This record gives sequence, structure tokens and C-alpha cells, in this order.
Amino acid sequence: MPRSIARPGVLAVDDHPTNLVTLEAVLEPLQVRVVKATSGEQALRCLLQEDFAVIILDARMPGMDGFETARLIRQRARHRDTPIILISAWHRDESSIIQGYVEGAVDYLTKPFEPEVLRAKVGLFVELFEQDRQLKERAARLRDAQAELSAREQAALMEAEVQRARLHAAFTQAPVAIALLKGPTHVYEYANPLYQRIIGQRDLLGRPAREAHPEIDGQHVFELMDHVFRTGEPVAGKAIPLELESDGQRETSFFDFVYQPVSRSDGSTEGLFICASEVTRQMLARLRAEELSARLQRQHEALQESEERFRSLTHAVSQIVWTTDAEGRVSSDSPSWRAFTGQPREKYLDVRYGWLECIHPEDRGRTVRQWVESLRGRKVFESEHRVRRHDGKYRYLTARGVPVVGRDGEVREWVGLHIDITEQRRSEQASSFLARASALLSASLDYEATLGNVARLVVPGLADWCALDLQTSDGGLQRVAAAHREPDKVEGVHALLDHFSLDWNARRGLPKVLRTGESEWMPTVPESFLGEGARDEHQVRLLRELGFSSYVCVPLLSRGRILGALSLVFAKGEREYDERDLRLAEDLGRRVASSVDNARLFREAREAVQVRDEFLSVASHELKTPLTPLRLKLHSLRQSARKGEVGQDALLAHLDVAERQVSRLSRLIDSLLDVSRIGAGKLELDWEEVDLAELVREVVTRFEPQATKARCPVTVHAPRPVIGQWDRMRLEQVVTNLLSNALKYGAGKPIELSVSGQAGHALLLVRDSGIGIEPGNLSRIFERFERAVSERHYGGLGLGLYITRQIVEALGGTVQAQSTPGEGSTFIVSLPAQATAHPVPSSSH
Ligand code: ADP
Repeated sequence: MPRSIARPGVLAVDDHPTNLVTLEAVLEPLQVRVVKATSGEQALRCLLQEDFAVIILDARMPGMDGFETARLIRQRARHRDTPIILISAWHRDESSIIQGYVEGAVDYLTKPFEPEVLRAKVGLFVELFEQDRQLKERAARLRDAQAELSAREQAALMEAEVQRARLHAAFTQAPVAIALLKGPTHVYEYANPLYQRIIGQRDLLGRPAREAHPEIDGQHVFELMDHVFRTGEPVAGKAIPLELESDGQRETSFFDFVYQPVSRSDGSTEGLFICASEVTRQMLARLRAEELSARLQRQHEALQESEERFRSLTHAVSQIVWTTDAEGRVSSDSPSWRAFTGQPREKYLDVRYGWLECIHPEDRGRTVRQWVESLRGRKVFESEHRVRRHDGKYRYLTARGVPVVGRDGEVREWVGLHIDITEQRRSEQASSFLARASALLSASLDYEATLGNVARLVVPGLADWCALDLQTSDGGLQRVAAAHREPDKVEGVHALLDHFSLDWNARRGLPKVLRTGESEWMPTVPESFLGEGARDEHQVRLLRELGFSSYVCVPLLSRGRILGALSLVFAKGEREYDERDLRLAEDLGRRVASSVDNARLFREAREAVQVRDEFLSVASHELKTPLTPLRLKLHSLRQSARKGEVGQDALLAHLDVAERQVSRLSRLIDSLLDVSRIGAGKLELDWEEVDLAELVREVVTRFEPQATKARCPVTVHAPRPVIGQWDRMRLEQVVTNLLSNALKYGAGKPIELSVSGQAGHALLLVRDSGIGIEPGNLSRIFERFERAVSERHYGGLGLGLYITRQIVEALGGTVQAQSTPGEGSTFIVSLPAQATAHPVPSSSH
């Protein structure tokens, strides 16, 4: 607290107040404060109050005089040095003055005194007092400052001590290794327990580092210490390996550390502060983590790679991949499923089995059962079902789903795959279908029955309904087999043919296929087609009843001939024939055709063998017939000759008979030769001008004996010559054959031959009134070995008419028979007059 700087006080003590006033006046110029006391006691009391620069004391006062008062003042240590001026009105006397000085007065004035002197003296003392006061104040201030300073110093020292203790404690307990090294040789000044432990318990303090732990020499530690000491630059390291010896064992540990230079005030380096923390565990953990992470990374990469492969695979094979949760509910999107089915995302993800909508209604129940069984039994899900594609078409897909089991053994999810096996299935179905069809076709030679089975095989896999038609020998068409997936509609399929058979020139459909031998394929039959393609309302109605939405018609081709056609139809627009179906149908058509052809050939071959056998027996019989009478004649001729009884007439008669038999034999043999010539295509014609009328008359003349024998009157109606370019010999053969048949089968009734010519044509009619011919045999009898009579009643080889037809056709003409059984037959030969050669086919049947 700043002291109040008052004017210096002067204590004036006098028992005479006037004196006091005088004093005050004298001192007034000094601008001091005069404190007045009228007695020694009062003066002492004033001194208790304050210190005065000077005390002016009247020596003579009643009671306690000035000397006494001075003495008492001086006794007080506080006022020992306060100047006292004694004033006495007394004469100067030495003893008073001395007493005055003895009592401590510093001056002594006698009255009357010079005011200036007093003023000067008092002024001096006031000055001194003032100086002393200032000095004291300064000293006090100095003392205060010193005390404060020392208190602060003390506090700082204490604080430093506390800090030091704290630091020490902190260093000691620090979880890091700390050491202080001094000087260029790095002498240990301090090392905390952890440092000691790490470095291996040993004496460190006071020892240079190289000496304290020489085993770490060569590990760059000392060099680092040297470097930091030399440069004054700190160095830090992270996870630095250090091989240390502990309990006689060397081990590598890892440290994070700082080598911090400790500098003096002048900046020079005094030593090093080392702070290190062991990070071996962290390091090992990190290494392990790194290793784990690398392993994870590798696994991740492998997984990614395999996922990538999986993805590319799914793309490549265009499979459908899907996943569901453990309960079998679709849990995540399957773009492949949606791309295939065109199903919207929310529909697919619908928990109420949205995907089922795409499964064919007929397959749904079964598929759901299979799925639920798999879920329950945690078994692999395997199913085959039809799935509706985005274009609305159903495709056959095979599905396979497997449970993915977690570490806890619980099913986490299901992963599945759908593969479109339509094509594969179709190939398999086609192969198996063709194999079954082939087996059916080869099972029997009764192709009418076989074809019925084939038609039933086609339905419903390859068609909703189908028809198999074969051309007949008379140029017609026969529906040999038909099938419909609704059996009661088979009759309708049969009924359709009646309408087709009416228009052979139709631009499309069955007639066109039969005409051209080319397949017809209509993937979708437009509604308008029924109206255009069908012949009448009835047929349109029939087609609508049967159903007609997609259609394939293939020819039955064998050895270049069109045997018939196979028609396949899808009824309801659910399925369409594509090119593969067409090829399959054609393949089936070829197999059917070849089977029919084979069966027919076999049938013909068998019939031919039968005919040949019959022919052989007939031929031997026929050949034997003339031989028997010939042998008999020769035998009786020999006997007659032995007896010498052979007259000329008898001999001639015998020779006649023999000659007839020989010529009969030779005719038979000629016929056989002709047949073989015709068969070999070697029937040669000698063209010349021939009058058919005359030729007929000659032959009839030649046949008179036989006619007589057969009791058949023969008349010839040939009023005019009918001339043409023909082969005479062969024409004679034709007339001979027809006439001999008329005699043979004429039942002894009249025979009439007529020859006429008209518009470049010659017409020969041979009419008998004999047994006649059944209508069904009329065309057959012109074939080789064909006969319409029993061999027991009529001899013959069945070759006459065959040879006749061959000759007539070779001459460019035709021959046919008309007959009413039991009433007779008429054979009509028509020949062009100016014929050109018609080659005889080499293997005509
Ligand atoms: P073949 O007379 O040797 O039997 P053809 O070829 O001459 O042989 O005659 C074939 C068949 O035609 C005869 O077997 C017979 O059944 C029938 N046929 C031929 N001509 C007549 C006819 N004029 N009247 C009745 N049937 C006939």
C-alpha cells in the first residue's frame, strides 16, 4: 500500500503557547507541519502518534523539562535518532549545553535565536528526515521486492521440485522406455524401469551406451545416437526391429522410438533423450492382420474370379440363375429369369410364389410339390417343367436348386439354375420318336395296320391330329391312317379327304404336295386360309371342329415316286411348326414311304413268286401236254414198224399228230422266249405295210380246225382293207392269241372278229360269248402269268394277253377288255396306222 506522503512534521514543545506560535511563524516558509505540544508529556504522547523530522524542545518547562523529555525520547529506540533542538532562554551555560547534548540534543539554541538560523537548522533536519524517510521507504520497498522475489523463488523451487518428482514418477511409471544420455559417448544418466527391462536388467547409469549394451552394436543404434548428438536433429523410427539379449536369449522386438537431442542454453547438444515403445505385439498382430488380409484378399479375388467365371458361364450358357431364402421364398432379383420370362420385377419378387405364374398350368402342381419336398428334406431340388417365355411360348426347362448350408449347419439360402432344354429335348424326342416309328414300321409288312400305329404315335407329341394318305393304283387317294388327340374326332379327319380328292389342281395343300412332291409348311394358318383353302362350307366347318392353326404336309417319297403324303396339324395355336418339325416330318415321311414301298415290293415279290410257282407248275403241265400224245404216237408207230404193218396213210396220220404236238410245244416255247425277250427289252419289230383285214382272215383260216374242234363258228367282219405300218409277224401273234383265247374260253359259242379303220387308226375287235371275265380281273389279266381261271379247267401259261399288250403297245396302240361274266368278252385293239416305234420297257410287270 503506498504510504501517504504528508508534509514532514516538526514537533514544537513549549509551555508558552506564544512561543509556539512564534515558532510556527518562523517555520512557515519551510512549509512544514508544526505539531505543537505544551509539555514534555504531551510531546511524548505526540511521538507515540508519529515520527517527526525534528523536535524543537523548550529546555525550561515546568514539570518535565526539556532535558528530561529529550532523555525520555532518546530512550525510545524509535526516536533515538530524531534530531532534537533544545531552545533555552537561559544564558548560555556550558553545562546546560553539555547536558543538552548528553540527553541527545543535536543542537542547542538560546533565546532569542535567529529565526533564519532556526529555520536553516530545522530546514536541514527536515531535509534529512525527508531523505531518510525516502531512503527508508525505498529500503522498505526493496525489502518488499526482495521478499516477494524470494517467495517466488521459493515457490518456483518448490514447483520445480514437485515437477521433477512428478516427471520422475511419470518417467518411472511411463509405459514407454525412457532414458537420458549425456555427452558424445552417450553416458546413461537416467533409464526408467521399462527401459531397463527392455535392454536387459543391468547397470546402465554412468556407463557409456557402447559399453552398457555392446550386443546391439551393428544394428545401427549407436550410429543413430552419434548422428543425433552431432547434428542436434531429432530422429524418429517406426516399428524398427531390434535384436536384444534378455536372460541370455536373443530376440527380435519392434520399437517406435524418438532420439531427441537435449540442448544447453547456448544451443550445443548436451545429450540425448530416448523415448521408445515396444510395438512387437502390435507389429506381430499387424503382420498377422496383413497376412490375414492378404489371405482374405486372395480368397476374395478367388471368389470374385469364381463369381466372374460363374457369371460368364451363366451368360455363355444363357442359363437362369436364382436364389431364395432358407424358406424357399424368392429373396433377390434374378435378371436372367426376368429376361427369359419377361416377368416384371415386383411380380417375380412377390412372396406368394410369383414365379409360378410362368410355369405351365399342367406342370404347376407337380413343380410345387417337388419344391416343397426339397425344402422340407433339404434335398436337391430337381424338376422339369414348361416355362412361359417372354414371347408367350412355353419352353421345356430343367431346374436344379441346392441348399447353401452355413457353418451352423442351417440352410442359409437356396441357389438354383434353370436350363432351357427344349432343343435338347426335341432332339431326344425326335430321335426316340423316329426310332419308335422305325420300329413300328419295320414290325410288320401289313402296312395298313402299321401306318395306323404310326399315326397314333405322331399324336399328340408332333401333332394334334394327322393323316396319312396313299395314292392308289387307279390314280385315287386313300386315307390309310388318321389320328386325333380327341379320339372322337378321328372320323372327321377321315371325312376331310373326300373334299381334298375332289380338286387335284388345288394350288396348295395335300393335292399340291402329291402333285409336286414338295413339302408344304404353314407355321401359322391365317383365319382367311380356311375360307380360301377349303372347298366348301362343310369343309370349313370340319376344319374348325378339328382345329387348324399350324400345318405341315410332307410327301411320302420312295425311289423317286410320290406314294402319298403325311399331314400334321396343330389345332389350337399353342404350338407352331418350325423348320425342325418340318425336317422331322420329312424324315418320318421318308421312313413311312420306304416302309410302304418295301411292304408293297415284298407283297408283289411274294405274289410274283406265287405266280411264278403257279406258272412253273402250269408250264410243266402245258409242256407235258403235247409230249404225252407225241410219245404215244411214236410208241405205236414203233410197234407198227416192228410188225411191218405201217401203211403210208397211217404213217402220215401219226406224223400229223406228232407235228401238231411239236408245233404246240414250239409255240409254248416261243411264248416263253417272247416273255424273256420282252423282259430284256429285246422285242424287235419289223416294220412293213400290212393289211390288217387280210391278216385277220388268214389267221382265222389257219384256225379253222381248232374252231371246228371247239365247235365255235367264227365270223370275220372286215369289209375293207385296213392298211398300216406294222410288224406282220407280231400282229399275227396278237390276232392268234386273242382268237385262241376266244376259242378256249368261248364255251363253244360263236366268235366274231371285226376290223375297221378310222382317222388313221385301225380297230380290231374279238368278241366271244363265253365265260366272261370278272370286272376286277379285267386289267390284271394283261399282266405276266396272270390268269382269271382255274388251271384245272383251262390250260395256259397266263402269257398270251401279256405278250399281246406288249406288242400292241410297242406298235403304239392299246388293248383292253370288256366283259360281262357268263356272257362273253370283247377284246379291243386300237393301233395307229402310221405308228412310230414305242420301246417296250425292259422290266414291265
Ligand atoms: P392263258 O390263256 O394262257 O391263261 P392269257 O394271257 O391268254 O393266258 O389269258 C389270261 C387270262 O385271261 C386267262 O387265263 C383267262 O382267265 C382270261 N381270258 C383271256 N381271254 C379270255 C376270254 N376270251 N374269255 C374269258 N377269259 C379270258
